[in-house]
Amino acid sequence: MIPQGIPARQPCTWQDELASAIRDPVELAVRLDLDPAVLDCTPDAMAQFPLRVPRPYLARMRRGDAADPLLLQVLPTARELDQVPGYGSDPLREHAANPVPGLIHKYHGRVLLLASPACAIHCRYCFRRHFDYAANTPGRQQWHQALAYIRNDPSIAEVIYSGGDPLAASDTMLAWLTGQIEAIPQVRRLRIHTRLPVVIPARIDQALLHWLGSSRLGRTLVLHINHANEIDREVAAAVQRLRDCGVTVLNQSVLLAGINDCGERLVELSERLFSAGILPYYLHLLDPVAGAAHFAVTRERAIALHQGLLARLPGYLVPRLVQELQGHPHKLPLG
Ligand SMILES: *Cc1c(COP(=O)(O)O)cnc(C)c1O
Ligand code: SF4
Repeated sequence: MIPQGIPARQPCTWQDELASAIRDPVELAVRLDLDPAVLDCTPDAMAQFPLRVPRPYLARMRRGDAADPLLLQVLPTARELDQVPGYGSDPLREHAANPVPGLIHKYHGRVLLLASPACAIHCRYCFRRHFDYAANTPGRQQWHQALAYIRNDPSIAEVIYSGGDPLAASDTMLAWLTGQIEAIPQVRRLRIHTRLPVVIPARIDQALLHWLGSSRLGRTLVLHINHANEIDREVAAAVQRLRDCGVTVLNQSVLLAGINDCGERLVELSERLFSAGILPYYLHLLDPVAGAAHFAVTRERAIALHQGLLARLPGYLVPRLVQELQGHPHKLPLG
């Protein structure tokens, strides 16, 4: 069930929420009733990938708990500085599949467009935390190159907005880009991979629903939620707005040590997703990105956890356990 009784917050635009995200570790500690000295917030880790926590997400963390599963996803700790063999800066070798700026073509029939370099939240385990966004942030002129690439490949039936977080882009830009894609006859589907509606539910506003709701394309939005506590009534209401205009809403998670690597937590996550109108889609093994090794869960343990889900939940609430391997044209199912 969705938790009730969450204190009402002042209504705020998503742009305000984005601008007022917490970037200061002392403020983070104070707002969580934690002693800043207790929080393992490391300047060198923040220098690599800054702290960023939107307030609606912060509001779902437990006060006074330095091991809160939402806090652990955003806290830049000293463990990120460990050098671990096998963990690198471009674990999926995406540069090899980057034919024009802003476009990644590594899956059959689908292309990714990097619609925005920015994210509302900085997730410490992110596989693109070292990605060269500067070289992959097209202006209008360069978008025409990406659009021509799609137009010239009749096999491309689906365009996926990715990032960064694509919903960090303005609705003016996204409406323009979507209109351009709709004019390419072989493209039938549009998909958006985003964490923004989770961390700032106000992102699903009228301006977004206007262009997304009126598109001729079949539309899917894949959220990124790792723990049941990330879903509150505001998130569920945002999902409802999307569903009301015909968008299919799915979720992908990353299996993260100390956050969700537990049978109970994963069952709870699937149940809470369903209550909010979201179907579990993928459960990913962590990509070996430098700075995130301490979140790794072994393949054996992942398979055992997944079997536990199969034993306890209906099939449609069991996400597919997958691993992304560099150079592979699809994700690899495990188990
Ligand atoms: C896996 C993945 C895709 C492609 O997903 P499929 O559902 O396998 O087509 C697109 N974007 C991101 C970020 C992914 O992880
Ligand atoms: S791309 Fe997704 S996982 Fe990575 S920091 Fe942004 S929101 Fe988090």
